[in-house]
Amino acid sequence: DIGVSLEKLQSLADAAHQKFKDDTDGKNADYIPELAKIPSELFGVCIMTVNGDVITVGDVDYSFAIESVSKPFTLSMLLRDDGYEAVLEKIGVEPTGLPFNSVAAVELHKSAVNPLVNAGAMASVSMVDADSPKARFEKILSYFEEFADDDLTVIDSIYESEAATNWHNKGIAWLLDSYGKLYADPDEVCDVYTKQCSIGVTARQLATMGATLANGGQNPKSGKRLLPTDQVPKLLAIMLSCGFYDGSGQWACEAGLPSKTGVGGGIVSVVPGRFAIVGFSPPLDEHGNSVRAQNAIKYIAEELELSLFNGR
Ligand code: GLU
Repeated sequence: DIGVSLEKLQSLADAAHQKFKDDTDGKNADYIPELAKIPSELFGVCIMTVNGDVITVGDVDYSFAIESVSKPFTLSMLLRDDGYEAVLEKIGVEPTGLPFNSVAAVELHKSAVNPLVNAGAMASVSMVDADSPKARFEKILSYFEEFADDDLTVIDSIYESEAATNWHNKGIAWLLDSYGKLYADPDEVCDVYTKQCSIGVTARQLATMGATLANGGQNPKSGKRLLPTDQVPKLLAIMLSCGFYDGSGQWACEAGLPSKTGVGGGIVSVVPGRFAIVGFSPPLDEHGNSVRAQNAIKYIAEELELSLFNGR
């Protein structure tokens, strides 16, 4: 029982789309040149329940770069393979209170701080057990495909655009390495991380990925278990405290849901035991989070009192 009818979910998704589709606040990420070219008016909302039912409105089949929404899924692999203690020791789980690509946070803590900022996501990639960069990427991609229950591919134009301009992330990788907190070659790790961020997903595919987390780690479509049940609360706690970068506290107050954003315009929010809500729209606020996607998710969360702290 997901505690709400599918009709009600559909009408709220429709209302959210209608309410925010003409909101022109924010702007596409442009530090990755190719992202600036994605049509800003794209906007989709998709909900998938733990029973595999799907609610859609708008541009839910447009394949966009997953970017940082990839981070919790790579973290999921580490929680599955190495466990929480290893993540705690080798990366950390504290919010930085600083932007997603902060160098200062790394220098201050002499570690990656948490797996959902760029530093920690690269540390995560470096911990994936593989004997070559190619194998490392393929392992990540196929795990993501199991989450999406679908084939996924890298959007080459985005990968090439970011790979040609990612000096800042390379700097973070080398700085982390200097503290002994990166666990493979920095340039290779940064490249695999960049490729991971360039994987294309649709709102529909991302909703399946999120619904797997809502469903205690078992994919509602394929029935496959992708993460042990006892690791799911750890992953969701990290998403709640760190998933919105330096907007995480405000998001926890206003939506109260473990979520992850990406500069491609995607956001996934998880309502444990019930469903996942995905919003996608390219224009971002000053923290790098999609304006329309945030507003849509917040609207649905408020209407249904979804905040975890309501204690349903
Ligand atoms: N690939 C992007 C970067 O590393 C991801 C950032 C994000 O989505 O927040 O800059």
